[in-house]
Amino acid sequence: MRSKKVRKIILSTPSLRLIRNNLRIILKLAVKKELQKLDKLYDLYRNKKILTPSQQKRKLQLAEKWKALDYSYYRSTLQCSSGAACISFQKAKKKGFNPKDRPTDLDLVWVPWLEKWSCVECFETFRQGEMTHEDFDDPVWREWVKNEFGI
Ligand SMILES: [Zn+2]
Repeated sequence: MRSKKVRKIILSTPSLRLIRNNLRIILKLAVKKELQKLDKLYDLYRNKKILTPSQQKRKLQLAEKWKALDYSYYRSTLQCSSGAACISFQKAKKKGFNPKDRPTDLDLVWVPWLEKWSCVECFETFRQGEMTHEDFDDPVWREWVKNEFGI
């Protein structure tokens, strides 16, 4: 997402919510399967003490592919990017939700200065909409946020 504005994607129609949730589940399964496949291929090179130049190149390519896919997955609309700290996840866990998984049925909010999607609960609880550049520890990121969003 490239938008510089906060975007809330809220579906109120139950059938659309169901379709969105099912698509997210399918996509999550596909991403996880691909990550596992890349990990298994990487394992072929992981414990070798000596690698040929082409094997080293292949090992590096696999690691880069895995990293790129994992990064995209983390930044995607498949789940809240707060991970285990997600408020919706914590609430769902108390109701018996599998702690190894993350909820996929959530409305999400694009937070441009964090460059990530958050669920509505996290967005409101962590007051992500009220953040200013002073909330960022990294001076480079702080300056970028100040210039880019004027907050
Ligand atoms: Zn969340």
